[in-house]
Amino acid sequence: MEAALKSDAEPGDRPFGSGDGVPFEPACNLDSPNRNLTPITTVVEATGQLAVGGCRLSDLARTYGTPLYVLDEATLRSACRAYRDALTNHYPGPSLPLYASKANSSLAITALVASEGLGLDAVSAGELLTALQGGMPPERIVLHGNNKSREELGLAIEYGVTIVVDNWSDIELLAQLVSGRPAQVRLLLRFTPGIECHTHEYIRTGHLDSKFGFDPDQLEGVLRHLSGCEWAHLDGLHAHIGSQIFELEPHRDLAGVMADALALARSLGHPCGDLNVGGGLGIRYVESDNPPTIQRWVQVVAEAVAEACQQRGLALPRLLCEPGRSLVASGGVTLYTVGSRKDIPGLRTYIAVDGGMSDNPRPITYQSRYTALLVDRPKAEPGVPVTVAGKHCESGDVLLKDIALPACGNGEILAVFATGAYNASMSSNYNRIPRPAAVLVHDGLSDLVQRREQPHDLLRYDVLPERLER
Ligand SMILES: *Cc1c(COP(=O)(O)O)cnc(C)c1O
Repeated sequence: MEAALKSDAEPGDRPFGSGDGVPFEPACNLDSPNRNLTPITTVVEATGQLAVGGCRLSDLARTYGTPLYVLDEATLRSACRAYRDALTNHYPGPSLPLYASKANSSLAITALVASEGLGLDAVSAGELLTALQGGMPPERIVLHGNNKSREELGLAIEYGVTIVVDNWSDIELLAQLVSGRPAQVRLLLRFTPGIECHTHEYIRTGHLDSKFGFDPDQLEGVLRHLSGCEWAHLDGLHAHIGSQIFELEPHRDLAGVMADALALARSLGHPCGDLNVGGGLGIRYVESDNPPTIQRWVQVVAEAVAEACQQRGLALPRLLCEPGRSLVASGGVTLYTVGSRKDIPGLRTYIAVDGGMSDNPRPITYQSRYTALLVDRPKAEPGVPVTVAGKHCESGDVLLKDIALPACGNGEILAVFATGAYNASMSSNYNRIPRPAAVLVHDGLSDLVQRREQPHDLLRYDVLPERLER
């Protein structure tokens, strides 16, 4: 299990330093057959410069400034279609992939995902409003959360969004909110399936000691309670085992656990036409990562669910799944401008960029690895490995440790790949650094989809009490 943890995802044990036999991270290899590390439209132009979505990356940096989140429309659409088509091909019943919008929530991504026929997961009033305003039909939205507020639940009821019941508090609040109204509320019931998988502890959710969902021991009691709630329409069951998972076996096991729960729920009179198996498929961040493809993941999940239902004599439910990372990560690239440099002879060379942990908190949070290239000389020979640091006041604010890049100087543009998920959505204003802009690129066109924050924006919510004024 330890070994699997190390070779799988989010390795938390990569020593800082180059001495301990740890190989240097190669820069992104554009000739690799594993092209799913970069957007599918990535090319080296005749000039030797890197372009994505038909847009030269250094031009984007000049036009929009850096740091800049670049999103490739073709890659995002292709991932949506991969889920949709694989579900259609491998699942004999109806199905719907829901985009877990916490991975990257914006009006533009919502609109894009909605136009591909997907649904969407939201976990807060903010994500819910973004989904509704981005044009996602409410009947394709699912509201999650282990501590939903009265306001969030009220909003979901108002718009007819499906609510994933996570705990007794949800049920009590919903009962209060619907009392005296004829409303029927569409629900999914979340439980912890008790499945261990090998990923970073912080993003594991399926094991029993998790803050999410009902304990399996409580399932029957909740189902019986909901039978007595006139307002409750239990559409189905939900479970999610974690994130950045490369193994297929836990997802196969989950199908059996969920089919058992489905049999129980139906035996207690709940219609339960939906089975929502969550998300969690990992992606390639560095060359040595080797996740299954979307097609393979869907095939395994779909066949396991169909088989588990057939074995138990259950009519096939509609199959829902909730990919986040695997839908948007590889479509995203972050552009930075290289600034200062520090050489520590015999030890390390730091180069600093104009962003860091505020626009990409994953390395400092999960020790995540990334890969990068200089956008105007992606094929240049690497020199001594460098460590790419951010500009924040934390020694741990390092984006790439020991990466094989050519010696690079002030003003060059660096592209970091696979930043489309859990970067913008986890960004902060640490050190009062404004958040980057985001652009969507397609066929040589670039559209601003998120404006760049300005330092004065950060003062908007500050209040200086009069008695402190001087
Ligand atoms: C985070 C999460 C997802 C998406 O996970 P990914 O690993 O990004 O695919 C799906 N469902 C739930 C309930 C989640 O919490």
